[in-house]
Amino acid sequence: MLKIAEIKDEIKFADITVKVVNIREKEYENEKGKGSYYYGIVGDETGTLPLTAWVFPSTVQAGDVIELKNCSVRKYNDRLRIYADSRSEVVLRPDDKMEVKRTYKEYKVKDLNLKDQYVAVSGIITGIEERTYEKDGRSGVVYSGIFADDTGTVRISSFGVKMKENLKARITGARVQEYRGRIRISINENSVITPIEMQKPGVPLYRISELSTGISGIEVTGICVMLGERSGLSMRCPECRKRVDDGNCQEHPDAKPYVDLYAYFTLEDGTSTMQCSIGREALAKFTGIKTESLEYTDDEIARIHGIIEEKIMGKPLLLKGESTTSPQGLSFRAEELTHIDSDVIKKVQAIMRMGID
Ligand SMILES: [Zn+2]
Repeated sequence: MLKIAEIKDEIKFADITVKVVNIREKEYENEKGKGSYYYGIVGDETGTLPLTAWVFPSTVQAGDVIELKNCSVRKYNDRLRIYADSRSEVVLRPDDKMEVKRTYKEYKVKDLNLKDQYVAVSGIITGIEERTYEKDGRSGVVYSGIFADDTGTVRISSFGVKMKENLKARITGARVQEYRGRIRISINENSVITPIEMQKPGVPLYRISELSTGISGIEVTGICVMLGERSGLSMRCPECRKRVDDGNCQEHPDAKPYVDLYAYFTLEDGTSTMQCSIGREALAKFTGIKTESLEYTDDEIARIHGIIEEKIMGKPLLLKGESTTSPQGLSFRAEELTHIDSDVIKKVQAIMRMGID
């Protein structure tokens, strides 16, 4: 009898008995019309694999043991996956019992990606917020917060399973998802949360050349080598937040634009350069510019640009925030900006001694 752990490569025809860990139906539409298929995770005592089934009895549920006759194993997104198609047969085995061994690859926050949808992570959970929601006439509680390890932070949410503030834990079976271009993780009743002993991680400092994906809750340092000439005062549409310096927003002509404060600049750290941006609150804090009194006149625009230039241009800076990637390349959104002082230099030197260099 074939076991999951024995599957190391693609197989044309296979018979395997597995337990359904989870299963979902997905509808699709193509030129031949509408249809649906099933996808999920199946496993046995030796491991788990994802399953895609074009034929599947709708009575089969999570927890059922099934025999997949004449299925195939193929690679999808670099991962092996079991396929049941029209030649295959799915037989329910109601009398069979099976324990599923789930194995999850250990991930650091910075390496989380959509190729591995269920993972193990270790870190600390903070900033927990609780919210009730309604779905299909039933209400539930969702907990959300920030999960941090020594490589960065990621948003975490939990449907139903309560999360404790400052909980240091290893989570196995966390689900990796993407929302508005950002990676996040979620836990559910199938995830296992084990408290662990660990130091509260500090904010990790990255070289620009080490960044190739979006990571939140990190620091970079460098010198501002170019300040965007339109940094400073800008008019923004309150509806879509687009910059509208020449009057009203074309899409929202009735919305009255407001005066905003914003800067963008190029940071160079000796390993590479990166485009950075900073918004009103953090920029006001860093420069001391009072935002309430700002008027959008030519004199004021020049004065504010001058203040920002004096504080940022050519200066060694420490930025806290998140890196993001887009078709335009890598960029950084600063939530906090500080001039580099002796404490910061000590931290940079300490990291270099750790051999990240
Ligand atoms: Zn608008």
